[in-house]
Amino acid sequence: MNVPKVPREMGRLDGKVIVLSAAAQGIGRACAIAFGKEGARVIATDINEEKLKELEQYSGIETKVLDVTQKVQVEMLAKDIENIDVLFNCAGFVHHGTILDCEDKDWDFTMNLNVRSMYLMIKAFLPKMLTQKSGHIINMSSVASSIKGVVNRCAYSSSKAAVIGLTKSVAADFIEQGIVCNCVCPGTVDTPSLRDRIQARPNPQQALKDFLGRQKTGRMATAEEVAHLCVYLASDESAYVTGKEFIIDGGWSL
Ligand code: NAD
Repeated sequence: MNVPKVPREMGRLDGKVIVLSAAAQGIGRACAIAFGKEGARVIATDINEEKLKELEQYSGIETKVLDVTQKVQVEMLAKDIENIDVLFNCAGFVHHGTILDCEDKDWDFTMNLNVRSMYLMIKAFLPKMLTQKSGHIINMSSVASSIKGVVNRCAYSSSKAAVIGLTKSVAADFIEQGIVCNCVCPGTVDTPSLRDRIQARPNPQQALKDFLGRQKTGRMATAEEVAHLCVYLASDESAYVTGKEFIIDGGWSL
């Protein structure tokens, strides 16, 4: 007997064009792969050309070298891309220290990469979303922000709090034009840069213990767990959600 088959489900991001930054490693890489798997056309960008190229083995992913702090480069990429459904601003840098350990150059570098780059990217890509009256913007923030005071994260937390402010502001200004804008606030995610930061501490073993100790789950998040959340925020399923901080921290901020 011929039993009609239930049709295979489509990818949750079929047909969507997604541009993301910091895609060469860590959370950005996991997101690029997850977006591609769900059927999106992914334009994965980073400054690390060599690592970025590794993504080309995955279907749906194209790569472009982009320094998100460079206005001209950002504007050129936006000009090159005909339409965009999702912009994911993932690039960010962690400065370790209190306000007294922070030099002017550390503050400026942090604000430039963590906040000004998002201002540049949104400004360049939003007009295309407005033309089609739809678009999802996802900004990478952190629990270390206005959500939670964290030791030795002065410049970083200040920048990530600004990302939350930017997110809410864009959400409020463009809600009537079909744009949603949300941010993701992870706790501690096991990524290459986190491992590097642990190694850079005077006592790496103790630093790892401290990172794990602050997680009530006893483990860090994986980049893939954050990517699942980002797939939701990129998809039409989240169309009624805007201006929100999505905390994914294994209970750290409880
Ligand atoms: P990572 O630090 O491992 O990788 C960052 C990527 O950004 C690298 O591939 C690097 O080449 C790229 N990059 C650096 N400067 C750039 C520039 N000017 N232009 C374009 N790309 C640039 O990444 P991660 O740890 O997955 O962090 C990604 C984001 O998530 C950051 O914004 C970070 O602050 C945030 N975050 C991370 C954690 C964590 O525990 N790992 C927690 C909360 C938030």
